[in-house]
Amino acid sequence: MFNLILFGPPGSGKGTQSEKLIAKYGLKHLSTGDLLRSEISRQTPLGKEAKSIMDKGQLVPDEVVIGMISSALDANPDARGFLFDGFPRTAAQAEALDKLLELKEAPIAAMLALEVSEDELIKRLLKRGETSGRSDDTNEVVIRARITEYHNKTAVVADYYKKFDKVVMVKGEGTIDEIFSRLCTEIDKRA
Ligand code: ADP
Repeated sequence: MFNLILFGPPGSGKGTQSEKLIAKYGLKHLSTGDLLRSEISRQTPLGKEAKSIMDKGQLVPDEVVIGMISSALDANPDARGFLFDGFPRTAAQAEALDKLLELKEAPIAAMLALEVSEDELIKRLLKRGETSGRSDDTNEVVIRARITEYHNKTAVVADYYKKFDKVVMVKGEGTIDEIFSRLCTEIDKRA
């Protein structure tokens, strides 16, 4: 099994690059943002709880997203590997993921971390908000809150994987294809 984490702040291009990476490497895409939005559109109790938190740009509680990921892993026993997108986002989530993957004897091969300047992030997210239908992309106050959550709670996740020498920084500016090819070069070194 070959498991990767695609990491980076909101708007760094994780969703776009994930689509291309899963197609090329045959991985199962696990995006906690997508899983949460699916709960919201199905109006489940979990979705209702998550929506008000997401609309403020804050992180959903760890136990909620860890539970979702644990079910998704169990639901895909034959996967060749997983691409985690938007998860783990806190140190507690990273530790929980390691434990879940230990049971499967399938550790994280690498964390690919997209680097994008803050001005570019805000520009991209506001632009995405024009068409994405995502309420958290239309308001600059909410976008800034998400970036603040990233700095306060999520950036430390990279420190966690640095201890295991698994972090690879990748420049996240340029064309979609340029960024994709940088990611593929790093993955191919480790596959
Ligand atoms: P982005 O990275 O562009 O903000 P996502 O779709 O990854 O978009 O996440 C949207 C929102 O979903 C986040 O702002 C947060 O409220 C919630 N969320 C997604 N993943 C997690 C997670 N792993 N832990 C906590 N909250 C999460």
